[in-house]
Amino acid sequence: MHEFSIAESLMEIVLEEATKHRASKILRVKIRAGKLMGIVPDLLTFAFKSLSEETIAEGAELEIEEIPFQGKCRNCGFFFSIGDFFGICPQCGSDNLEIEGGNDLELVGLEIERSEN
Ligand SMILES: [Zn+2]
Repeated sequence: MHEFSIAESLMEIVLEEATKHRASKILRVKIRAGKLMGIVPDLLTFAFKSLSEETIAEGAELEIEEIPFQGKCRNCGFFFSIGDFFGICPQCGSDNLEIEGGNDLELVGLEIERSEN
């Protein structure tokens, strides 16, 4: 279950960002995850929730946006996005494809509450 280690590094980044912005509470966390990461959103949410217990991220909502990966045809150089299916090049029909992107995880949004002082 690699979602746990992903959630761990995510939590680290989130808490660091939150500290920078003097957050007293984290309300919502938005991430973008490449399809190639093979993340199961439910598992990641579960892992995130258990790690956030007794931190300022407790109760925060995790929003996961899945990013499809890109394919490039080695035969004709055509770029296209692939859904869930590893297909063939839509332009020339070759199956000699290169897969690009899709294996990043990016923090794109953080909603926080600030402590008044
Ligand atoms: Zn092609």
